[in-house]
Amino acid sequence: MQIPVRHAVFSSPDYPFDPVSAPVKLDQNESSEDFPDDLKALVLKRVAAAEWNRYPDLHADTLCAAIAGFEQWSPSGVVVTTGSNVLISLLIQLSALGGRVVTVKSNFALYGLDAQLLGSRLSEVPLREDHSVDFDAVIAALEGASAHADEPAGVIYLPRPHAPTGSQCPLDALERLAQLSRGWLLVIDEAYVHFGEGSAAELARRHAHVVLLRTFSKAWGLAGARVGYALSSDAVARQLRKLVPPFAVSVMQSECIRVALENPGYMHERVQGIVRERDRITRALSDHPTWTVSPSSGNFLLIRTPDAQQAFDHLLTNGVLVRRQDRHFGLEGCIRVTVGTRAENDVFLRAAHAAPR
Ligand SMILES: *Cc1c(COP(=O)(O)O)cnc(C)c1O
Repeated sequence: MQIPVRHAVFSSPDYPFDPVSAPVKLDQNESSEDFPDDLKALVLKRVAAAEWNRYPDLHADTLCAAIAGFEQWSPSGVVVTTGSNVLISLLIQLSALGGRVVTVKSNFALYGLDAQLLGSRLSEVPLREDHSVDFDAVIAALEGASAHADEPAGVIYLPRPHAPTGSQCPLDALERLAQLSRGWLLVIDEAYVHFGEGSAAELARRHAHVVLLRTFSKAWGLAGARVGYALSSDAVARQLRKLVPPFAVSVMQSECIRVALENPGYMHERVQGIVRERDRITRALSDHPTWTVSPSSGNFLLIRTPDAQQAFDHLLTNGVLVRRQDRHFGLEGCIRVTVGTRAENDVFLRAAHAAPR
């Protein structure tokens, strides 16, 4: 032992991200448009009027109430943290320490990374070739896990819409999984829900072990604010809250998000624009000689190219930064492109059509 650190942490890789700068930044599924100026001004005014010498709410209670009002959810079933990625780790601590994390692959990197850091066993069920979830295989992966009746078996993580493929699994399949996953926490990561075909909220209302994850980092254009939340049964939220550090969400974060929730019009409008642009890019690349675009329910597109490194380099030379996905299971040659503004997408499309074959 070189330093007194658990082996699970020592042997885990760093989060896979290398910052690169480029004029057209389409690598992190952020909103290309900033939070509106008039709303920024309102946030700054409210933050200036707040008492910075006082601790904020213990569990961001005022903000939870605002989110509950917006989502028509019980305020006691809302848990807010500094980014939904914090919740991914906390939910493993809640229900999978010494247990298992079951997810699909490819997937969002943090499910597996956090499972590894926390020493939970990880089962990744391969997606089918068309990127659909093999629910029979997921259900099979749950079997034989709950050894002790008084401890949970673990956590199931499913992003919906799926990242990074953009596919969206059907609700009736999720319903069946919810019915067959007693003893597990079933977490549906809805980071991209605004761009897709509807939420699993009704499912989560009916099943006390189903949790939804949401974020302000994508559709709301507030990645810099670092706020996300979980929607769950009151019973799960009450226990989850014990794991969130007290006073975690600052006055600045709370005021910022409350202003956004009071003015959601800009977000709804932008989502419509992104969906239109996503479909325009998809059509424009449909006759590409070597690139294939997957249908997407997110604010991004997964594209299979003959060589991901070559495609990435070519796009970057043309000022466009995208994310390579070719290290993921089943995604050989793939890159992921965030849907940007119309002008940004035009730059991307011109470069795409001039890409080496
Ligand atoms: C972006 C993203 C998140 C979370 O983001 P935060 O910025 O931490 O709220 C969670 N899950 C998926 C699949 C994402 O793409």
